[in-house]
Amino acid sequence: MEFLNQPWFIQVGFGLSFALIVVAFFYIRGQRQRIKQLREELDGWMKDALTGLASRRRAMEMYHWMFKIVHSARARQGGLHQRKEDGISKSLTLAMFDIDHFKKVNDEHGHLAGDMVLEEFGKILSAQIRASDIAGRYGGEEFFVVLAADVDGMKIFVERVRQELGKKRFQHKGKKFGVTFTCGIATLDDPQCTCEELLERADSALLNGKEYRNRVVLWTPERFIHIQF
Ligand code: GH3
Ligand code: MG
Ligand code: MG
Repeated sequence: MEFLNQPWFIQVGFGLSFALIVVAFFYIRGQRQRIKQLREELDGWMKDALTGLASRRRAMEMYHWMFKIVHSARARQGGLHQRKEDGISKSLTLAMFDIDHFKKVNDEHGHLAGDMVLEEFGKILSAQIRASDIAGRYGGEEFFVVLAADVDGMKIFVERVRQELGKKRFQHKGKKFGVTFTCGIATLDDPQCTCEELLERADSALLNGKEYRNRVVLWTPERFIHIQF
């Protein structure tokens, strides 16, 4: 009853301080939950949940940004140099990947097995890229890689991915299976080419490769080149 013997203004002061602490506690807790929620939303916006790669939106945004940097670096040098000065790459090569007969994987082994393949493919791509590169899930079983490298650099990259995927024997409910991919490549080698055109070139090379599957096809102005490994 000590407290009740205190003058009224001390009692009121204590009461107000206590109320303030309680309000501050709930306010901070609410704000922390909001930050956590915003962080999750941002993560969902930037990352593909299944593969952990950049989402299509994020990958495209980074691609546009990278394209602009390479383009202006080349313009400053007055040509299509492949050299890397000021630490800025003057090369940019794009590859579109599509897993072959993926619908069959789902149909024969189930969607969980299909998801496992996508997850694994995402891991393979992530393991091969550097900080200056972009790897994203374009949609479904299609993936998108942009390297600050020329065609030779991309060939090495794709071959590594091909070898890594070739080693994988997936297993689902006791059944083993493997998958292949088809890949279309296009490189920035003419100053008139736009960001969208480069993407279309890689896409048309991919479409050409899909006539055969398990192919890596390079877009060139004259013809599609099927790369031999
Ligand atoms: P192609 O060799 O011509 O590329 O044939 P495909 O079967 O790989 O291609 P198609 O476009 O016919 O089928 C793609 C399938 O991918 C259909 C769709 O249900 C499946 N798919 C898309 N997204 C996901 C996903 O997140 N998980 C799983 N398991 N399947 C998916
Ligand atoms: Mg597809
Ligand atoms: Mg496919």
